Amino acid sequence: MASIDIKNVRKDFGPVSVLKGVDLAIASGEFAVLVGPSGCGKSTLLRLIAGLEDASSGEIHIGGRRVDDLPPRDRDIAMVFQSYALYPHMNVRDNMGYSLRLKRTPQARIAEIVGRAGAKLGLEALGERKPRELSGGQRQRVAMGRAIVRNPKAFLFDEPLSNLDARMREQMRFEIRKLHRDLGATSVYVTHDQIEAMTMADRIVAMNAGIIQQVGTPLELYDDPANVFVAGFIGSPA
Ligand code: ADP
Ligand code: MG
Repeated sequence: MASIDIKNVRKDFGPVSVLKGVDLAIASGEFAVLVGPSGCGKSTLLRLIAGLEDASSGEIHIGGRRVDDLPPRDRDIAMVFQSYALYPHMNVRDNMGYSLRLKRTPQARIAEIVGRAGAKLGLEALGERKPRELSGGQRQRVAMGRAIVRNPKAFLFDEPLSNLDARMREQMRFEIRKLHRDLGATSVYVTHDQIEAMTMADRIVAMNAGIIQQVGTPLELYDDPANVFVAGFIGSPA
């Protein structure tokens, strides 16, 4: 696991300033939940950490090392999306092992790693299935399995549960926290769901219009919101 330090990061798309000087330090092992309204820059911040976009200015450090010039594959970070992004023609086992095959990991070793990840996620019986033969919750588990086989230093989750029904969301909230703890990972979890934020976060990072409004424990934000935006977000029903 590794700390993530974001130092005065700005991101402009043409004339539009999306991130307006973000400073954020996420501790090693922390589960940070990034909240804010649609369009405020949450996904952009994750993409910058993952290296899928370059910052316009500022610095990003992972595990104390500056990564701004490193390509995504060298950052040791795994991203989990809501859209699952599974390969439709591959079965569960091959979806999970794909990144290891690209790294030329020996077949027997891949089977061992994928087997262990599958057991953690309750996917043992589904190895031969194709994504279309899975429920939404099962697909989300495979997407998480694909992330954990790479043994990353950090996980970035971008609204991973938004396509699931309420009951499955509740179960997956619990499972994602458990995986985070079991793996000793550092996680940044994006959501616009107040309940996910309040129940999952070690600390909540509240963002609006490309500016971080407040960082604190769920209780701190609830008891002592820094401004009307934070109060409205934390206080309003899901
Ligand atoms: P969020 O995830 O909080 O909903 P995003 O980070 O996806 O917000 O987007 C923030 C803003 O940046 C939006 O106004 C969006 O239209 C804009 N944006 C995101 N990516 C691009 C891009 N590649 N080119 C131009 N504008 C973009
Ligand atoms: Mg987004």
